[in-house]
Amino acid sequence: MRHPDYRRHLTGEHPERPARLAAIDAALERAQFDERVADLDAAALVPATAVEDILRVHSRSHLNRIERMAARGGGFLDSDTVVSPESYRVALLAAGGACAAVDAVIGGHARTAFALVRPPGHHATPDRAMGFCLLNNLAIAVRRAQAVHRQHRVAIVDFDVHHGNGTQAVFEEDPSVLFVSLHQHPLYPGSGLAHEIGRGPGTGRTINVPLSAGTGDRGYALAFDEIVGPALTAFAPELIGVSAGFDAHWADPLAFMNVTCAGFAGLVARLRRWAATLAGGRLVLVLEGGYNLDALAGSVVACVQALIGEQPVDPLGRPPGTDTEPSLDATLAEVRRRHTSAEY
Ligand SMILES: [Zn+2]
Repeated sequence: MRHPDYRRHLTGEHPERPARLAAIDAALERAQFDERVADLDAAALVPATAVEDILRVHSRSHLNRIERMAARGGGFLDSDTVVSPESYRVALLAAGGACAAVDAVIGGHARTAFALVRPPGHHATPDRAMGFCLLNNLAIAVRRAQAVHRQHRVAIVDFDVHHGNGTQAVFEEDPSVLFVSLHQHPLYPGSGLAHEIGRGPGTGRTINVPLSAGTGDRGYALAFDEIVGPALTAFAPELIGVSAGFDAHWADPLAFMNVTCAGFAGLVARLRRWAATLAGGRLVLVLEGGYNLDALAGSVVACVQALIGEQPVDPLGRPPGTDTEPSLDATLAEVRRRHTSAEY
């Protein structure tokens, strides 16, 4: 799922820049997926109900604020979240792309889908743009899946290196959505500790796995196998949505993790397996972060290879230097302890 206009959200000297998608396009081209991967119809990107879809997640005042700022020629919604003249339209298009990916998978036009959108979404709360994010694309698509397609139980797995605070804010009181976030801690935005487990009727349905800097393929795979897989199995979702950010890559300039392109593909292969067993195969990835262009593009291609069951190619290989990772034993034990009494 791609659209040329996603490059028209202009951010100036900024890590979240149009060149990210150009790098992904070039790498997809080189990988020659040809007819093995379909480019979903770009004309379907903005459903007629786009604003209605967005208002299931965001306040009208939030949407109006972005529209007004774009109409005035742009500006900053917070210190690192830029709006350019076309950003309102592009933000609608990004949310529409995530929705169209969900529609395609639920409608049976695709087994799995990857919405390669920008701006990213997982920091955007119902009433606030932050951390490069204007609208929470995946949250909007999940609410659409529930409202339009009657998918009652949806799981979201967020492996972007930053905590998906916006997505958590949307769903933390809602027992119908399981939200699992793996992220470096401490790091922006600072939330996502293990004791944040949801609230009220949503208690237990938010799972935060804060990981130490230096965690790599082994740690992420372990956290997936010990926490994510069992949580998905217990929850039994009808659809799995993924906030797919690639800033946990060892070459990324914004964080300090050591995941490889092949490591990300391994996580996606697990999600594909769990989706097949639990959710009729329904799996939708939506792009979030990833700021080293080669690492981002290589990881996206490796994940597409994993989605179609092919052996991933890793153009960047292992991180230089040390091969050791911090132990996750204490973290995983705490996450488990916080959730032993929680019901799914
Ligand atoms: Zn991120």
